[in-house]
Amino acid sequence: MLKLYNTATRKLENFKPTTEVVKIYTCGPTVYGYQHIGNYASYIYWDLLIRALRLNGYNVRRILNFTDVGHLTSDEDSGEDKMEKGAAREGKTVWEIAEFYEDDFMRNFRALKLSEPEVLAKATDYVDDDMQAVNLMTEHGFTYETTDGVYYDTAKFADYAKFARLDLAGLQAGARVGFSSEKRNASDFAVWKFIQPDEKHAMRWDYLGRPGYPGWHLECSTIIHKELGEPIDIHTGGIDHIPVHHSNEIAETYAAYGCELSRFWLHCNFITIDGEKVSKSLGNIYTLDDLKKRGFTPMDFKMWVLAGHYQGTRNFTFESLEAAKARRLHWRNRIALLYQENVCASPVLQSILEAINNNLNSPEAFALIDGSVLTMDDWQKVDELFGLSLIDDTPDIDDETKELIVQRAAAREAKDWAESDRLRDLLAEKNIGVKDTPNGSVWEYLS
Ligand code: AMP
Ligand code: ZN
Repeated sequence: MLKLYNTATRKLENFKPTTEVVKIYTCGPTVYGYQHIGNYASYIYWDLLIRALRLNGYNVRRILNFTDVGHLTSDEDSGEDKMEKGAAREGKTVWEIAEFYEDDFMRNFRALKLSEPEVLAKATDYVDDDMQAVNLMTEHGFTYETTDGVYYDTAKFADYAKFARLDLAGLQAGARVGFSSEKRNASDFAVWKFIQPDEKHAMRWDYLGRPGYPGWHLECSTIIHKELGEPIDIHTGGIDHIPVHHSNEIAETYAAYGCELSRFWLHCNFITIDGEKVSKSLGNIYTLDDLKKRGFTPMDFKMWVLAGHYQGTRNFTFESLEAAKARRLHWRNRIALLYQENVCASPVLQSILEAINNNLNSPEAFALIDGSVLTMDDWQKVDELFGLSLIDDTPDIDDETKELIVQRAAAREAKDWAESDRLRDLLAEKNIGVKDTPNGSVWEYLS
């Protein structure tokens, strides 16, 4: 039985879908710049979720969106439009920026061997549906107009504070001094933004007799309504989404369609880098290409991510990435030393699946892999579950070479250094180098 921690109830709950297909939605990237390793860590965790569901026998229909309109530099309704910012930075149109960063994201997504979503939804393809949703929210009495746009009156939704356990009175009291906006409550948010006559905004749609564009949160509730239907089974995102973005998606769905948005909500924690928040001003934003330049593959990074739990705080350092890389190499070495006839599954596989079924406990599953003897069949399942490409990336070696590697490890264990050195030389003649690490000995082809 798969158990997942549900942010909505703050409890670990047994997961069961309501229909034969598990409906999942993941808030995707804002495509105005390169995604950093923190962003990709979140998609790696959600990929583990999808793979775990499939291994439990469920069919999955999963949507990932591209935010290509409406996300301002603040997660609320102020600041620059991120797409316009990207376009100005690169001297391109917003449409070119969106296309370029969507492609870059998918290139990395595939390099990480993440399961392809059933639907990749661009926010700009759903703007007519957004307008219909705003019409419904207005009809149901949840919105009001300001000079700046159409706003959601959060006081009209009695449960607004429930999901994120928000302190609305505190929010109101803490609202900026001199807060001159026409907003009725500090937590109100734009479902539609008007473009002022002096404002340069390339992405624009006519609605309510003037140009404008949808508010950021609306795309997710609209896409879910159109492509999946409420309530979906699982909605995922980073913890930053809980207080504003996801609270607002829930509020919009309630106001437009009168229903619950999702039964389960999963949120991953943020990774820090060298103990600091990932931020441009600290210069610690790494992309997967930056890691590649330092000799690490996307699979090494994936190994690092899955060595931690999705809800835990993770601190990225290059030393810990080095350790993850060595661990993966060690696992591949173990696979290479297996003989083909060794095929049936062992009991440890069951324990690995149980660890994953316990709220995606990948660190525990990894520890089990480290400490147990796995058969070829087990490794196949491990690859299916984590998408680490362990078997595919392991070169075939002949049985005689396997024997030499095993004998050398035994000689070392017995502290027979002369024999161990003799075998090392024999292996070197076969173009194989051996190295002893705290995880045991590993070998690699000498180039
Ligand atoms: P964005 O493109 O900013 O909307 O972010 C895409 C996804 O990455 C969101 O689900 C964020 O919650 C997540 N995210 C952003 N920064 C980090 C981080 N440092 N660690 C983990 N996830 C992150
Ligand atoms: Zn969203």
